[in-house]
Amino acid sequence: MDSLADGRVSYIDGRRIEDLTTDPTTRIAVGLVADCYDTFYSDDPGARNPLLAPPRSAAALREIVGLLRGVDMLAHTTFTSVMTLRTVLPQLQAAHPEYAERVRAHLDYVADNDLRVTECITDAKGHRALSPSKQQDVDAYLRVVERRPDGVVIRGAKLHITGASLAHELFVMPTKKMGPGEEDYAIACAVPANAPGLSTINTTYAFRGEDDRHYPMSRKRQMPDCFVIFDDVFVPNERIFLDGQTEFSALFAHSLGLWERLGGVAEMAHDADLLVGLAELVSEANGLGRVAHVKEKISELVIYATLVRSGLEAAIAHARSTEDGFVYPDELYTNAAKYHGAAEFNTMARNLIDIAGGSVLTAPTIGDLELPELEGHIRQYMTGNPDVSGEDRLRIMHAIRDMVADAFGGWHYVTNVQSGGGLYAQRIVTRKHYPMKESVAMAREAAGLSPKE
Ligand SMILES: Cc1cc2nc3c(=O)[nH]c(=O)nc-3n(C[C@H](O)[C@H](O)[C@H](O)COP(=O)(O)OP(=O)(O)OC[C@H]3O[C@@H](n4cnc5c(N)ncnc54)[C@H](O)[C@@H]3O)c2cc1C
Repeated sequence: MDSLADGRVSYIDGRRIEDLTTDPTTRIAVGLVADCYDTFYSDDPGARNPLLAPPRSAAALREIVGLLRGVDMLAHTTFTSVMTLRTVLPQLQAAHPEYAERVRAHLDYVADNDLRVTECITDAKGHRALSPSKQQDVDAYLRVVERRPDGVVIRGAKLHITGASLAHELFVMPTKKMGPGEEDYAIACAVPANAPGLSTINTTYAFRGEDDRHYPMSRKRQMPDCFVIFDDVFVPNERIFLDGQTEFSALFAHSLGLWERLGGVAEMAHDADLLVGLAELVSEANGLGRVAHVKEKISELVIYATLVRSGLEAAIAHARSTEDGFVYPDELYTNAAKYHGAAEFNTMARNLIDIAGGSVLTAPTIGDLELPELEGHIRQYMTGNPDVSGEDRLRIMHAIRDMVADAFGGWHYVTNVQSGGGLYAQRIVTRKHYPMKESVAMAREAAGLSPKE
């Protein structure tokens, strides 16, 4: 927590944040990050964050994905950033060993100091149909504006960056493949959070009031997303991992996409089981556990949860390896599972809301329940099935609202569609890695056509 007092510049709601550790909008997220440090703490002098250990087998990858469960989002982005850099290392090494050397040194620096890293890939992008060099505003994509003997100066903005205000390091990379003439946009580097010229504007779904007990989910799972401004930020040579080699500009983005989506699937597999559990609980609390249409909706939820987890398992079971033995998840299963989990999430949330009823939105708060003059009435009228107390039913309703029907629910709704490059990106990558030739050959044979030469 002390490390955040390093002069970084961060804003929210039209004001500068003086102290991230006490500000009501970021305090809880900071606490969650600190708790994760405690979870993995070891007094072994050589200890390193286990999330950053390079997996050397599918079993090791499975173990690490298991560790992600329950960690804060910044630990997640640290994991994703580090794994991305490890995945690109062999290709960088082959073509630009000097960059690979810097990446290795930076990975050691992050691990030795147990730093938190955020992924800065999404640019402001300007006119979506135009490439970076065709934009009216040349800064719509982050670019190098000056090259000096000791480093470069970068300008631009990276948007929606999870946890950027709380991280120690920002891992900056191009959002897509750059073409000839776009060398200045082909920049990947590491920027410390307190670099002069860097500032973050926070948004958060965190509850702004004092008593957040009726937000049982988001009080334990929150992280600001940030609009990050690079206003002529100097980056020294040793922190530059790519500068001008357009043919490598998409390498980082592809690799980040894979790890980001794997992390997303792991998160969605957990959330899917949570949706099933909440649906089962609320149907019992409402006294409708045996009703056919309710059971059908829960069955759909069960199938959804099982398929998302199957995709995660398949992505790990079919893991691949770089030349240097670093294991990464399978592209096809990772992308297909991420797409399915994200695209169907909102339908599954609808099932849950459908089963639960209007109290999802209107149940009195825990504070209301504690008022002596209200307690009896609330307990009485919140009771559905008498086997479940009115208080338990009220708490279940709050959990559902927080998860799928409030600010955190809205965040889920948009994030599932947009994160990891959006649904479109997952469709493209899935199709690219699908064994289409084999399927077409099967179809030709089934239709009695001659095999294609
Ligand atoms: C809560 C949240 C957290 C996020 N965290 C991070 C993070 O930590 N780091 C990070 O770098 N990013 C992060 N993202 C960004 C996320 O990856 C992007 O939102 C996503 O890639 C879409 O980009 P965009 O928002 O600019 O939308 P757009 O790119 O404008 O996309 C909107 C729609 O337009 C389509 N589209 C865009 N351009 C074209 C085109 N040329 N041709 C055809 N169709 C097009 C897209 O497919 C999509 O359907 C986060 C997003 C959210 C919502």
